[in-house]
Amino acid sequence: MLAYERQRFARHLCISAFFLLLLAVSWAQLEEEGNESSTSDERLGKVAVVGSGIGGASSSYFLRRLVGSEVEVHVFEAEGRVGGRCKALKHTVSNGKEKLFEVGASIIFDKNHYSRKISRELGLNHSRSRGRSFGLWDGRRLVFQSLHLPWNQTNPSPFLTSLGLMARYGRSLILLKSLVKKTLDSFLKIYDKQEAGESFETAEELWSALGLFHLTQETLGEELRLHGLSDKLLRELVGAVNRVNYNQNNSLNALAGMVSLCPLVAGSVFAIQEGNAALPEAMIRSSADFLNLKTRITRVTINSTSSDRRYVLWSGDKEVGGFDALVLATPLELATIEFFRIRPDGEEELKLDDLSNIDFRTTHSTFVHGTLNASRLTGVEKSLWMSRMVRGRGRVPDSIYATEDSQDFFTSISHYGHEIYKIFSPRRLMKAEIDQLFTVYKVLEEKEWKAYPHFHPPETLQSFRPIADERIYYVNAIEKAVSAVEVSAIGGRNVALMLCRDVFPSKCPKQRDPREEL
Ligand SMILES: Cc1cc2nc3c(=O)[nH]c(=O)nc-3n(C[C@H](O)[C@H](O)[C@H](O)COP(=O)(O)OP(=O)(O)OC[C@H]3O[C@@H](n4cnc5c(N)ncnc54)[C@H](O)[C@@H]3O)c2cc1C
Repeated sequence: MLAYERQRFARHLCISAFFLLLLAVSWAQLEEEGNESSTSDERLGKVAVVGSGIGGASSSYFLRRLVGSEVEVHVFEAEGRVGGRCKALKHTVSNGKEKLFEVGASIIFDKNHYSRKISRELGLNHSRSRGRSFGLWDGRRLVFQSLHLPWNQTNPSPFLTSLGLMARYGRSLILLKSLVKKTLDSFLKIYDKQEAGESFETAEELWSALGLFHLTQETLGEELRLHGLSDKLLRELVGAVNRVNYNQNNSLNALAGMVSLCPLVAGSVFAIQEGNAALPEAMIRSSADFLNLKTRITRVTINSTSSDRRYVLWSGDKEVGGFDALVLATPLELATIEFFRIRPDGEEELKLDDLSNIDFRTTHSTFVHGTLNASRLTGVEKSLWMSRMVRGRGRVPDSIYATEDSQDFFTSISHYGHEIYKIFSPRRLMKAEIDQLFTVYKVLEEKEWKAYPHFHPPETLQSFRPIADERIYYVNAIEKAVSAVEVSAIGGRNVALMLCRDVFPSKCPKQRDPREEL
């Protein structure tokens, strides 16, 4: 078990030598008994957060900001590391330097305020990969690729590439930009609402307040066709973006689809230089009192006769503590946690109905160090009007994205320099398939993810309070509409606001009456 004690908490305990002594004694007890609850200050509200991904980290971070020192936050994480679906591969490259390559969530959109601002505030750096080229692969050939100025074959020209896209997709591209921009403007309203202390009991209420709920009820394909976008744009550019982001075609819900298109049409992206997992790590370090790694929560019992430390958490047959409130920051469909209500007359298992029937897409990330077999990937559509010069002299684009038409076994292949490639695929790659792509190679890492919900609208959205009237909050209720780092951070702030209002009402901004906005 790892425990981070916040400096403030330590200062508080250091006010007298007696307290120091007490701390030393209880610390010794903690090590001896392995029971962290023995260190707790009984005057504090005790909150458990299950999951140390960005959702759990955000809950802890915003709760601390709201409540200050009156809350004791305990984070429980099943794995031996923090970050969940943010995970980097460390590899020593040809120049002898260690580099990080993102295995899970790789890019963060610039307009994602929480990820951008909090990472800066916590001293993390941003890295941006500029000048990358891309191509759209229909399974047999590149139907589009970034364009180069004849005298610069290294970096593509954004201007020429935009012209090329306009030439291929015409008015549909302009329409797409304006639709995505409109969705983004609505999405950005969440920041003002949360700053003003507004919270939402259900994901439906949250997306409705932003005027976006209707997009969760229809497919992206339906929404875009309704606005007259061409089939070609949908199958190629839009299809490729959704396959790489969600491993799904345009039948996913329109909200998830629009959000995944934002970086393409409305801004740039960055990654955390120290690795994207450094963001949840820094947020937890700055806000939680205890971080318990390798502690899978398997069972929660709710003591219906007590309001004090009402929620008792178990890891296997070990009780890990009693809490006043519980934040669940992991998809419950995958977490296999059982819930029981303890009554004077016995124990009743609680079934969380709206969690059934949600499946998660499997996505494989495969990292390869090797030499690409360029001839496998540089076939070009005959009708392409571009000259060989502007296509970058037949070089393979840095990233190749499979369009909706592609029957190929990969959804994307990206080159990160130093002959390191990341391949996303819906299933594990077979050796014969990797043999096709590389002339010589070594597989560095393979990771199977239960990556994101399988979106199929109309979506039935979940509640941030999965058990009525209980102080149990579910961050990932937000994920059934859209799955992204920033979306989990928003979910985390929402549950922090709900929890604050329920457990620490004097500390919390009053809920704004929606009628005030009329
Ligand atoms: C391959 C891939 C690529 C992606 N690319 C991007 C991208 O480029 N940009 C982007 O914004 N998003 C991307 N995403 C989505 C993004 O990673 C997720 O939406 C986000 O990280 C989810 O964070 P979370 O905290 O809600 O969940 P998670 O990160 O899944 O965190 C949940 C944590 O809970 C822990 N846990 C589970 N069960 C228990 C238990 N019983 N007890 C204790 N702990 C438990 C897990 O081990 C995990 O650490 C990608 C996802 C994948 C898989």
